[in-house]
Amino acid sequence: MELKLSAEEQAFQQEIRTRFEEILPEDHPYRGGSIISMSRDEMADWQNTLNENGWGAIGWPQELGGTDWGDPQKAIFQAEAARVNAPGQSPFGVTMVGPVLCEFGTEAQKAQHLPNILDGSVFWCQGYSEPGSGSDLASLRTAAIRDGDDYVVNGQKIWTTQAHIADWIFCLVRTSTEGKPQQGISFLLIDMKSPGIEVKPIYTIDGDHHLNEVYFTDVRVPVDNLVGNENEGWTYAKFLLGNERAGIAGTDIILNGLANLKNVHDYLSETAGESYQADAFARRHAELSVRYESLQMLENRALFAAPDSGDGMILPLPMKTLGTELQQDMGDLAYDMLGADSTVLFTADFEPTVGDNEPNYRAHAPNQTHFMLFNRASTIFGGTTEVQKGIMSKFVLGL
Ligand SMILES: Cc1cc2nc3c(=O)[nH]c(=O)nc-3n(C[C@H](O)[C@H](O)[C@H](O)COP(=O)(O)OP(=O)(O)OC[C@H]3O[C@@H](n4cnc5c(N)ncnc54)[C@H](O)[C@@H]3O)c2cc1C
Repeated sequence: MELKLSAEEQAFQQEIRTRFEEILPEDHPYRGGSIISMSRDEMADWQNTLNENGWGAIGWPQELGGTDWGDPQKAIFQAEAARVNAPGQSPFGVTMVGPVLCEFGTEAQKAQHLPNILDGSVFWCQGYSEPGSGSDLASLRTAAIRDGDDYVVNGQKIWTTQAHIADWIFCLVRTSTEGKPQQGISFLLIDMKSPGIEVKPIYTIDGDHHLNEVYFTDVRVPVDNLVGNENEGWTYAKFLLGNERAGIAGTDIILNGLANLKNVHDYLSETAGESYQADAFARRHAELSVRYESLQMLENRALFAAPDSGDGMILPLPMKTLGTELQQDMGDLAYDMLGADSTVLFTADFEPTVGDNEPNYRAHAPNQTHFMLFNRASTIFGGTTEVQKGIMSKFVLGL
């Protein structure tokens, strides 16, 4: 869906487009890159580049390092980032804990953490899930007991993405067992270098190390690291999950992916002869493109939602469900189209060889495999599809 742009918005779009071409020219190594396969240094470098251009966290309030852009400008920026195949940003700082701190943090917390998130020098991870407490998050048991000016934290988190490269973790911890489970949860910022923290790797089906278990044994955390009020962490956790789900929908990833699929299709149509079922793949690509269009309409509705309409809270649910299913189907299509080339597994030192006139589909083949395997998880993290559908049937359809 094309946004109808005013003359002023068209000028803004041109400005963003020109700047992106400067910082991410055609042959830039990050172009078409995915944070799934970027190192910490590369992610930090890209975050810093964005920040130097004033784009470190476009959604934050301007006085805290964000922009003064309205929703149309943000939508234009996202579309331009997708157009140049820009990699995403590590979400844990910019789109998860950052907005929570902007909204609910103390002045000291904002001053300590927001600049480091913006320039990419400090990395965060998310300590929500525990063994037995994933979908049923409110049952979490990691305990924080007050002792003088500290909390003493004991327990375990699991599936903690990037904990092995993170400097800080934002954690949901139990500070009370009174009342409903949601009422005894607090939101705590914990320095990963604190004595008593142990990180153990979990290797996933894509052969990579994204995930970890994190153990806390008598970890002392200053009370000053509590965000908002004690036992009100569930409110901040839900605020964060809404942002997380909208991000996971991945309209930028999908747009890049559709363009790549089209390149591969064009190339194979010309070169692969009758063995390539061009019509069948074109139909599948068209069907995915239509699904993308409807997802983008939802995203625009969420972006332009009136603050009191409730859409901003509700729409991330279908966006996450539809977006992640679409991402998985795109991965399957790429796999089917590329055939044997898809079996090349990504390794960090893989150097694709691309002919002069050849669209770089061979360069994308290993990434497609990596993406396809990693993406089996996208309908699980940030809340499983089944659970999202349960919430929608209750709160949207009233069933
Ligand atoms: C790649 C990846 C990265 C992740 N990163 C993080 C992270 O950085 N930080 C973090 O805190 N967590 C992270 N998670 C954890 C993620 O949030 C949980 O996996 C998710 O919430 C599901 O919880 P669970 O794994 O305990 O599954 P369970 O909750 O045990 O669910 C198991 C199955 O039961 C179904 N089910 C459960 N309840 C219901 C219900 N009420 N109705 C219908 N079906 C139901 C689920 O859909 C699922 O199929 C990550 C997970 C993955 C896979």
